[in-house]
Amino acid sequence: MTVRRESSKLYENDGRSSLAAVKIITLFPEFFNSPLSTGLLGRAIQAGLFRVDVIDLRDFAENRYRQCDDYPYGGGSGMVLMPGPLFRAISSVREEGTRVLLTSASGTLLTQELVKRFAGERDLCIVCGHYEGVDQRVVERFVDYEVSVGDYVLSGGEFAALAIVDAVARYVPGFMSNSESLVEESFEDGLLEYPQYTRPAEIDGLAAPEVLLSGDHARIRRWREEQRIEKTRRVRPDLYKRYCEGNDKGEER
Ligand code: SAH
Repeated sequence: MTVRRESSKLYENDGRSSLAAVKIITLFPEFFNSPLSTGLLGRAIQAGLFRVDVIDLRDFAENRYRQCDDYPYGGGSGMVLMPGPLFRAISSVREEGTRVLLTSASGTLLTQELVKRFAGERDLCIVCGHYEGVDQRVVERFVDYEVSVGDYVLSGGEFAALAIVDAVARYVPGFMSNSESLVEESFEDGLLEYPQYTRPAEIDGLAAPEVLLSGDHARIRRWREEQRIEKTRRVRPDLYKRYCEGNDKGEER
């Protein structure tokens, strides 16, 4: 795990992101075509809210085969991304203040907290690993954060990079049409979100909860809060425990 620099600029920034550019270094640039041109992310990039540059690692390879991977020293299965092309690729995009992230199954687990920290940066460079991973000297020389998107193994860092970009982008002013929704969402205060319903009031014998149709806003707020606590207790005992501890502390004060 690497967390070389600590910062929480987002909080100094009124919760507004200062993100201007994300540079993604990958062996598979075409992977990003559709995700970066579709939906909210596509619209935001088109509107120039921030920039995403996808950089082809092979452009930084040296030999005529554009080789970027090699056998691991010490043996073992699979291939490792060579340090040379990555050193050159990262150096070519790194500016003063660029934070370099490496997607890695053995990195720090990505949380909303970490997403906010990244959103407080101006310039992010995300390196996508592949095969068995990357030469450790890349981490030593360049990487500020090794980031895992969950306790499972993906085939490539591209999937993780997309998750990071999307989660961070939601904090960029103008990305969400309704910035309220950022505050009310899962994880913002340590609880998961309440269940959502929309029309019709009944489908196939299943009715939407009566309270939501009551127009009684105080009751609705109470119901939603109860639902959030109950859901968190049921599916995320780890978060629930932290939530309860937080409340105990609050009462002591
Ligand atoms: N040998 C590695 C797995 C390599 S998977 C290990 O045992 O940890 C290939 C690449 O996919 C990794 O280099 C990393 O960039 C990416 N990757 C896999 N799982 C990931 C996860 N949970 N989070 C972020 N990136 C992941």
